[in-house]
Amino acid sequence: MIRIDPSLAPLLALLLAAAGAVAQDAPIAIAIHGGAGTIDPDQLSPARRAAIEADLGAALDAGHAVLAAGGSSLDAVTAAVVMLEDSPHFNAGRGAVFNADGRNDLDAAVMTGHDRRAGAVAGLTRTRNPVLAARAVMEHSPHVFLIGAGAESFARARGLQRAGPAWFRTEARWQQYLDARERENERRRAGDRQAAASRRAADYYGTVGAVALDRHGHVAAATSTGGMTLKRFGRVGDVPVLGAGTWAEDGCAVSATGWGEMFIRAGAGHEICARVRLAGQGLAEAAHGVVARDIPALGGDGGVIAVDGAGNIAMPYSSAGMYRGRIDADGRRVVAIWAEDDGTAR
Ligand code: ASP
Repeated sequence: MIRIDPSLAPLLALLLAAAGAVAQDAPIAIAIHGGAGTIDPDQLSPARRAAIEADLGAALDAGHAVLAAGGSSLDAVTAAVVMLEDSPHFNAGRGAVFNADGRNDLDAAVMTGHDRRAGAVAGLTRTRNPVLAARAVMEHSPHVFLIGAGAESFARARGLQRAGPAWFRTEARWQQYLDARERENERRRAGDRQAAASRRAADYYGTVGAVALDRHGHVAAATSTGGMTLKRFGRVGDVPVLGAGTWAEDGCAVSATGWGEMFIRAGAGHEICARVRLAGQGLAEAAHGVVARDIPALGGDGGVIAVDGAGNIAMPYSSAGMYRGRIDADGRRVVAIWAEDDGTAR
């Protein structure tokens, strides 16, 4: 035990109070996404839009409440992503897309910036909240990335809540799967192998994620997904690939959504933070460069959310829309889907 000379107590109290005051003033910020893609305003009924925005808002507020109470960015992004996984509206946890065999295969990752701890899982089928499994890998294993049956037994051994196919399945997602399968079959019958293979990505994805800055100046990122509709052969996208769909380092955290293959090939998350760290770019410039140039140059599209150590937030996307929300360092709160909703440059 540390013994403190009683005569130093007043000085110590003063120092602690000062430190507390600094922490109270330190900026906090959070951003979330519920996936990017073909979000057609005409296809989204007012009721469904309201329900989606309500779930985005609730996740955003849950994460922000953690930060406002002095909690860690890790706890904030975890809280937000768990809520988005439990919402049926997004492609993660409940409401995840179906793979080619008509099953849900779930991937997730989490990472903290100041100490570069990270955990990731791929191919989960029975764990209700994959982001909690990723966090458990980070906090309770010597490893960083677990897949398939091994990841599943690890999650079970950690006592994480289980869920069956009925929990993950939503009727809307099942219909989307049947439609997508039919479209692919038609293309195959028409001999359009190229189109069948490339599967115009925007119709097939959606993901959830969060990035946050806490009062200690620490950033974190978390992302969770069902991947892409009709994925085959054990396909894993960018979400659990650290440096691609999920990345955090001191002063920079990124969570992506989009055509995962291209985000992996661009090293998207790491690339954005490296441009900030090494090239002196601002967060918005770096994120925009990767999302608006690098990813499209590879033939992909999608978006990212990113936060830096000062609480700046960037949320660029190159797809038609991106479900998203943010509460910035000044407390301004926005929930948006299309560009005109918050003036976000596409
Ligand atoms: N990026 C995810 C993946 O490729 C999907 C998505 O963001 O919607 O698995």
